[in-house]
Amino acid sequence: RAKEAGRGRWTLFDPKENARAVSRYAVSVRMPAALDRGEFFIDYQPMVDLASGAMTGVEALVRWRHPQLGVLGPEEFVGVAEETGLIMPLGRWVLEQACEQAADWVARFGDRAPRLSVNLAVRQARNAGLVGDVERTLRSTGLDPSMLQLEITESTVVGPEDEALKALHALVDMGVSLSVDDFGTGWSNLAYLRDLPVSNLKIAGSFVGDLHDPAKDTHLGWRIVSGLVSLAHTLGLSVTAEGVESRADAERLRLMGCDLAQGWHFGRPARPAEIARRIAEADLEAAPDPEFGYES
Ligand code: C2E
Ligand code: MG
Ligand code: MG
Ligand code: MG
Repeated sequence: RAKEAGRGRWTLFDPKENARAVSRYAVSVRMPAALDRGEFFIDYQPMVDLASGAMTGVEALVRWRHPQLGVLGPEEFVGVAEETGLIMPLGRWVLEQACEQAADWVARFGDRAPRLSVNLAVRQARNAGLVGDVERTLRSTGLDPSMLQLEITESTVVGPEDEALKALHALVDMGVSLSVDDFGTGWSNLAYLRDLPVSNLKIAGSFVGDLHDPAKDTHLGWRIVSGLVSLAHTLGLSVTAEGVESRADAERLRLMGCDLAQGWHFGRPARPAEIARRIAEADLEAAPDPEFGYES
């Protein structure tokens, strides 16, 4: 492969770029049919309440089982899907599929079922049909709106006059909640937070990840994270740290008052059966110890 062959060599064309261009082509050609052929699937990553340790939510992360290229992550195809417009049917499919899955967990586990978080592409948020799509999906799956959170990015809303803002307000009026994903990585003017009815900020995994980069100032890194936690709380918002890979980081985040965390330390994105197993396991832990019952 060009990727391997080119490592550490100077060439006129970046072989990595070339490999990517080829796969982008392969990706864009196959993608329209892929949806009909059922090649996409969704993994769910646990989101954990740092104070209690409970898995209170899951994030839906789309994947593509490409017949030639193997399983592709969203980084490989969501960009192309945005450019080609395929993100619209794909996004609708993810929303429906994930809401159906979440409703199934509610039916099986009641209030122990995790809340569902779904990523919204900029283009989806700007589409006039969004509110209707969400409304219809909630109705057809029977999922309570309070169980759904939509993750938008800082670039979704540009200003107070923005069309997307109306749709986002309508969704919140419906009972759906909004979260700002990858918070702190954009260049945006924070004033958008005054117009946006969000309830949660997700601190980008890159902030937490950089805390272990020997080339970066760890002390300053932690102060930025701590500042973002304070900012969220000052605004009355809950805050989630992404990319938490170690117990030490989780503990430090908990001590600084961060509400929720997500990352490999708590669980990688997983198949629905694995999530169900974790919910059931937590149920067992919470059940009274039978030994106690016999003694009394
Ligand atoms: P995101 O929404 O910020 O999702 C978090 C990403 O970080 C996921 O990558 C997840 O697998 C990864 N991650 C989680 N914990 C850790 C950790 O401890 N360490 C490290 N290094 N990484 C961790 P993934 O699944 O590749 O998704 C990448 C991005 O693709 C997502 O970033 C999201 O922006 C986008 N995406 C995923 N699914 C969808 C979707 O259905 N629709 C849209 N529009 N975008 C999606
Ligand atoms: Mg996200
Ligand atoms: Mg994120
Ligand atoms: Mg991201």
